[in-house]
Amino acid sequence: MSARGAEPGTQPESARGAEPGTQPRCAREAETETDRIMTVLGPIEPDQLGACQAHEHLFVKEGPATRTFPDLLLDDYGKTLQELTTYFAAGGRSLVDAQPVGSGRMAGLQERVSRESGVHVVAATGFHRPLFYDESHWIHHASMHKLVGLFTEELETGLYLDGESAWPVERGTARAGIIKTAAGPDGISGRWGTLFDAAAETAGRTAAPVLIHTEEGHGAMEILRFFLDRGVAAHQLIFCHLDRVAGNSAYMAEVAAAGAWLELDTIGRFKYHDDREEAGTIGKLISLGHGAHMLLGLDVTRARMRAYGGTIGLAYLHDRFLPLLRQSGILEADLRRMMVENPAKALRRHTTDTRNK
Ligand SMILES: [Zn+2]
Repeated sequence: MSARGAEPGTQPESARGAEPGTQPRCAREAETETDRIMTVLGPIEPDQLGACQAHEHLFVKEGPATRTFPDLLLDDYGKTLQELTTYFAAGGRSLVDAQPVGSGRMAGLQERVSRESGVHVVAATGFHRPLFYDESHWIHHASMHKLVGLFTEELETGLYLDGESAWPVERGTARAGIIKTAAGPDGISGRWGTLFDAAAETAGRTAAPVLIHTEEGHGAMEILRFFLDRGVAAHQLIFCHLDRVAGNSAYMAEVAAAGAWLELDTIGRFKYHDDREEAGTIGKLISLGHGAHMLLGLDVTRARMRAYGGTIGLAYLHDRFLPLLRQSGILEADLRRMMVENPAKALRRHTTDTRNK
């Protein structure tokens, strides 16, 4: 059964009736950005965000990671546009692109594809897992001061269009809305600890949200304490992929109870577990009272994007998974919270009092 048009719970008033290709509306630039969400086409009010998938990948150009894992390569503008157009038709209105500076992000195309598809795109600064960088990459040796400057500049002024083979120099006007982080081989110590320090410093200065890649369902509490110790608020932190492991709901509940966000995206990823297992985890977290701390996504790759010949497509969450959640007894109000209301809170810059620039 198609989810299109029939389930107003996931399609906010502001988005209904919009057409693909309509440029997302932007708020007036002159006002304060506090409590706004920064997209690649400018700041928007939280209620303009609509149904949002909180961890996706639109473009990844060829580099060390794609040479090892060709399924990560997403470099065809027409195919990504096609995928986003289908996503919009299914009810998707926005998404977070989790590819940071210098790791193959293709920032110029993010802006263009948002304009042409009508989908709001929240872009990321910050850093990724080590596999995205070759040995000589600046990510391995830039000073903390330089990194904070770069991340802050991308949030406040514009995304760099380069940075893969040398320190970024060519800057555009689209801005980042989130800071991406991912633990390294030594977790959050060693060189990757310096990167986490830079992310925390930037989050403290800008009050921007932080998207955190975790591995194998753990590590979140250590990272949470790391950020809290450096003055970053729990509500700025979005922990991704803790649902990779089945039966991890007690750990996820602990993270949510601390005030951080859970981004669940092991959906249509059958090598980990099936969708019924995932629906059970989501139902359990809601029954434990954590429905106000959950976000959903698909973390798509080439192997999962339909337009690239992949298995499920960006629209899968709307077309297949939300109907499954309904069948499993999850209320429309809870679906709307996860898809619309929670992202609108998690992606905005929450306060002015943590800013000290
Ligand atoms: Zn990802």
